[in-house]
Amino acid sequence: MELARPESVEDAVAALGNGAVALGGGTELVPLLNSRIVRADTLVELRSAVPKGVDGTTIGAATTLGELEVDPQIPDALREACRLSASPQLRATGTIGGNLLQATRCWYWRLKFPCRLHGGDRCHAQDGQHREHAIFANDFCASGHPSDPAAALLALGATVRTDRRELTVGELYRLPTEDDRSTTTLEPDEVIVELEVPQPDASVYLKAMDRQRWAFALVGVAAARFGEDVRLGLAGVAPIPWSSPEGATPLPGNAYKTKILEALVRRARSQILS
Ligand SMILES: Cc1cc2nc3c(=O)[nH]c(=O)nc-3n(C[C@H](O)[C@H](O)[C@H](O)COP(=O)(O)OP(=O)(O)OC[C@H]3O[C@@H](n4cnc5c(N)ncnc54)[C@H](O)[C@@H]3O)c2cc1C
Ligand code: SF4
Repeated sequence: MELARPESVEDAVAALGNGAVALGGGTELVPLLNSRIVRADTLVELRSAVPKGVDGTTIGAATTLGELEVDPQIPDALREACRLSASPQLRATGTIGGNLLQATRCWYWRLKFPCRLHGGDRCHAQDGQHREHAIFANDFCASGHPSDPAAALLALGATVRTDRRELTVGELYRLPTEDDRSTTTLEPDEVIVELEVPQPDASVYLKAMDRQRWAFALVGVAAARFGEDVRLGLAGVAPIPWSSPEGATPLPGNAYKTKILEALVRRARSQILS
């Protein structure tokens, strides 16, 4: 396998595709390469190509979660979502761009069961173990989206700038279907360059986990208030970051999540309205 180290976004894009895959901090990609879920001839390291750091409301895609969690310019919901993600070591390396594009944690998928996200014709979680899985939009694939920062960015109404377009965080994701199993709308050679994050009047991120730390969200709730307008972003409850807490369709083994969701939404709303 080769390692390319482009110095600009243009050179990174030119190097991608045809078996070449983008490398941020590698905390997600390297385990997927090791388990041969992702295959690559070339890794295109983005470290020197993509901006890093915070400038007002703009965040470079190569900024680490560890940098975001301590930056006072960052809205509370996003800082807290980063702080509650993974471990300090992973946050010191993992970038916000890579976090948004992390794959599902569904163990059937990680263990390479031939499920729908791997192109098969069955969701093994629906009939099997699904305690941690989705309670919304779970009819095709029932995985729960693992990104805490994505939920925060959704509530904050953030936009993503790639090498070729600008899209909202909501538009970055799509529900997988029979015809297209991907959960993002990015092209294989498209690079996330920056995020633009509006400053709310108040925001918060609350996360229910099996352990107090270093665990993925069973339910994550971000809430952001802009004047009278309150927006939500939810993690761990749908195959992609989700915005509405209404209309849950839980599976037999995860109905408990609806109660947690109701409680966290109530608590989040009261915190940003007080
Ligand atoms: C044990 C463990 C626990 C974790 N817990 C949590 C948690 O609680 N909450 C949470 O939100 N996350 C959690 N994570 C996920 C972690 O935050 C991500 O692994 C990390 O943020 C990914 O960033 P990275 O730079 O290492 O991405 P990489 O591993 O380098 O890349 C991930 C993916 O993004 C692509 N990519 C990276 N950067 C770009 C870019 N700029 N443009 C286009 N494509 C890009 C890569 O090609 C790859 O497909 C956990 C991870 C682990 C391993
Ligand atoms: S939840 Fe999604 S990733 Fe998991 S087994 Fe079902 S189709 Fe595969």
